[in-house]
Amino acid sequence: MPVINVIGAGLAGSEAAHIAALMGVDVKLYEMKPVKYSPAHHSESFAELVCSNSLRADAVTNAVGLLKKELRITGSLIMEAADKARVPAGGALAVDREEFSGFITDWIRSSDKITVINEEITKIPSDDEITVIATGPLTDGELYDDIGRLCGDDTLHFFDAAAPIVMGSSIDMSKAFRASRYSKGGDDYINCPMDKDEYLAFYRELIGAERAAVKDFDREIVFEGCMPIETMASRGEDTMRFGPLKPVGLIDPRTGKEPYACLQLRQDDRAKTMYNLVGFQTRLKWDEQKRVFGMIPGLENAEYYRMGVMHRNTYLNSPLHLEDTYRFKGRENLFFAGQMTGVEGYIESTASGFLAGYYAALKALDMEIPFKPGSNTVMGAMAAYVSDPSIKHFVPMNANFGIVNPMPGKFKGKDGKKMKCQAIADRSIEEMAEFAGVLEKLKVS
Ligand SMILES: Cc1cc2nc3c(=O)[nH]c(=O)nc-3n(C[C@H](O)[C@H](O)[C@H](O)COP(=O)(O)OP(=O)(O)OC[C@H]3O[C@@H](n4cnc5c(N)ncnc54)[C@H](O)[C@@H]3O)c2cc1C
Repeated sequence: MPVINVIGAGLAGSEAAHIAALMGVDVKLYEMKPVKYSPAHHSESFAELVCSNSLRADAVTNAVGLLKKELRITGSLIMEAADKARVPAGGALAVDREEFSGFITDWIRSSDKITVINEEITKIPSDDEITVIATGPLTDGELYDDIGRLCGDDTLHFFDAAAPIVMGSSIDMSKAFRASRYSKGGDDYINCPMDKDEYLAFYRELIGAERAAVKDFDREIVFEGCMPIETMASRGEDTMRFGPLKPVGLIDPRTGKEPYACLQLRQDDRAKTMYNLVGFQTRLKWDEQKRVFGMIPGLENAEYYRMGVMHRNTYLNSPLHLEDTYRFKGRENLFFAGQMTGVEGYIESTASGFLAGYYAALKALDMEIPFKPGSNTVMGAMAAYVSDPSIKHFVPMNANFGIVNPMPGKFKGKDGKKMKCQAIADRSIEEMAEFAGVLEKLKVS
């Protein structure tokens, strides 16, 4: 009976184990929680969302929305969980994080193809075994050192931060109000409006606030999409007003006007007990987060469910080391998946986990690859991007239409861009439908 090892039951590892199990392959899924936790993981459940509960845009005319559609077509476990645990968030797909991880954990634990082993893996298994390493961007310790040795010590990293989450009941609703930007999506967000004096006082305290020391944080190599709020603020007095504190499309019902600046808090669970400070990823010291964020009207007495944190985020120099099947060059049976391959984001990590699990399962079944999604699809384009040997300075990449095959034809006029994105989506969905047909024949359960 073929067996594969999947190391790490995060988003990528859970998705990899799921597809392999459906293809009839036995999986040994190694997860170090609850024996050991990374600084950003807190729950015993699998596929834990370490920061935001938003899986970002859902429309297929957006690249990450199309990637979700592609995963839904393949029968993705992560997307099934996300659709079941969905909470309101305008045009984005946001989830109740506990329901989401709970669904995935239950499915994996009840699969007779998957054996879960709660153990920290400290060495890459030998090539006699088929292995998918999906230990995530916070991979550390002896395994990190072993991966470094395998890659000739040229693993790369940047720094990433998570935003705090507060208790909904501790937000002062006599100052805050419920609304979505431009009224799109009902009253999904809680908004904390600021006048000019309040904003400037907050800005001054924020740029001077004390930051936590972060191991190896020598230069501020941060991913633009996850920039700490204090780093953003230090770029200029108004920068936050064009970013997370932008007020456009939000009318304060008490004044009937757009505020000078406005923080949005997104519902983080179905029961509406927890709220995420959107765009407020930070590395301020915890008491400084309470002091400075407490200057925002409505958050004066906020109780924190989780504080913001910053971490080193490790990834492979994949163009040098990986094939477009996520297999490590020169190692017949070793695959990598998830954020550590240089894809960036929850859904991108899931997609790489799906493909690595699929290719690893084919290896276990001793089968040729019957179908490989190409660069007409976002998932295929991401696999091609991370393994493109012509890339010399590799940086992690979110799903985007810049990496898919160009769409022939002219798309002019007011709706030209939207029509082009729709054409890209239609082309991808057609290819994915063919892939789904192939997968159906491979699945035994
Ligand atoms: C602080 C932070 C904030 C982030 N915020 C966002 C965000 O808001 N939105 C977004 O889209 N992306 C965010 N990301 C990126 C996010 O990590 C990825 O999108 C996603 O979680 C990566 O999935 P993964 O499966 O690769 O890794 P993970 O989800 O991290 O899963 C790795 C799993 O492997 C286990 N593990 C690790 N080492 C071992 C070992 N040696 N042996 C056994 N098990 C092990 C871990 O316990 C964990 O369960 C953030 C990342 C960080 C670090």
